[in-house]
Amino acid sequence: MNNSTETHGVWSATAPSHPALSPVEGERKTDVAVVGGGYTGLSAALYLAEAGTDVTLLEAKSIGYGGSGRNVGLVNAGLWLMPDEVVKIMGPEYGERVLEVLGASPDLVFELINKHGIECEAVREGTLHCAHSPAGYKALQKREEQWQRRNAPVTLLSREKAAPMIGSNAFHGALWDKRAGRIQPLAYAYGLAEIAKKAGAKLHSNSPVISCRRDGDSWRLKTPNGVVVAKFVILTVQGYPDYAFKNQKKSMVPFNYFQFSTPPLPESVRKTILPGQQPAWDTNLILSSYRLDNAGRLIVGSVGQARHGAYGLHKSWALRSVKKVFPQIGTIELEHAWDGIIRMTTDNVPRFHLLDKGMITVTSYNGRGIGPGTVFGKLLAEYTQTESPSCIPLPLTQQNEIWTRQLRGFFYEAGARLYHFAQRRI
Ligand SMILES: Cc1cc2nc3c(=O)[nH]c(=O)nc-3n(C[C@H](O)[C@H](O)[C@H](O)COP(=O)(O)OP(=O)(O)OC[C@H]3O[C@@H](n4cnc5c(N)ncnc54)[C@H](O)[C@@H]3O)c2cc1C
Repeated sequence: MNNSTETHGVWSATAPSHPALSPVEGERKTDVAVVGGGYTGLSAALYLAEAGTDVTLLEAKSIGYGGSGRNVGLVNAGLWLMPDEVVKIMGPEYGERVLEVLGASPDLVFELINKHGIECEAVREGTLHCAHSPAGYKALQKREEQWQRRNAPVTLLSREKAAPMIGSNAFHGALWDKRAGRIQPLAYAYGLAEIAKKAGAKLHSNSPVISCRRDGDSWRLKTPNGVVVAKFVILTVQGYPDYAFKNQKKSMVPFNYFQFSTPPLPESVRKTILPGQQPAWDTNLILSSYRLDNAGRLIVGSVGQARHGAYGLHKSWALRSVKKVFPQIGTIELEHAWDGIIRMTTDNVPRFHLLDKGMITVTSYNGRGIGPGTVFGKLLAEYTQTESPSCIPLPLTQQNEIWTRQLRGFFYEAGARLYHFAQRRI
């Protein structure tokens, strides 16, 4: 089992081939330079190219190297926060607007997948947010009421109704969000890259931007073998900022999430687990996620790193957790292990920043980036054409350093290790 930071686990083992791309070479002029080859950057590049704009995307490593190739694949609607909480933090205008935009974000994801035939194991049968305790069930009741008030198709299932849908008696009920679904995340990123390229976007892998400076009316982005001169820059380095944009880390709190996958389960067992193909996660503070892929592998995830000293601890927790939640599986092995960094804000709301004239960024998806990345990339593409803040469903704010970020990140990791250590013995 490869457990280095470079691995994307089962997603790289089962994705189609990486799109044929090469590093940028020599000097080139473009209208818009996009930095980062995840969902946000690829979506921005796609919509710009479709609008006939000359766009060049620079990815430091490979397409989907960051969160876009490592995540759980839950195509969620909305943010982690309860809808009313979003409105409380952002005010009614921005709050309701961002809820509307992100509530509908799975529509855009599945529309792109269907329209372009992206092969990424897409299933849109909703997601199951499972109550790990009676308090978790009460929180889901509130969530259901708040979303239903906004006409969203979410239904709270009792313990008895949820159990056969999850294939487990371990939960107190579940909120079924029919707007949502699941994908193979890396395959979706590769698919977006293929369609953006076909639409005319120039995409370059292995092209880290090592310096970025203003030169008159343009930006000069330097990579090891080339220079891109652009009128506008869209920065989408999100959870994996590196080289010229390392400092972006200062405005976000890091949070690790690991996943382990089993080999394909025997058909007799597989049909008893999440038979409707909904992916599931729970209401616990140290949350856990459970989903199948198309080959019938069970993928279990939770907070923490699957590397270094934490690997053994989280692996034993994963084995124990699968046994507890899905005892019908019996003895299992784990085939792949991988993890990724999620970047958070202190209030769990993403941020848009106009970093300078002609340079915009969006950061901190707080663990929800498939729908948001796809939609925000499209809106950022629009912004470069109009420079109208009305394209963006959140205010354009000043980027501030979070001084406590490392301490907070340390507490998440330490808390997860302690919790998984304790759970291992139950
Ligand atoms: C383990 C995990 C589980 C998650 N689960 C879910 C989930 O189930 N559902 C969901 O909706 N979201 C989930 N997320 C969040 C989601 O994956 C991310 O929010 C989303 O992928 C962010 O996409 P992005 O394009 O904005 O950034 P990223 O995908 O992180 O891409 C940023 C890219 O920028 C590149 N880059 C950095 N610096 C430079 C540079 N100087 N020059 C050029 N390129 C550079 C990086 O190499 C990277 O490829 C999860 C995240 C993780 C890590």
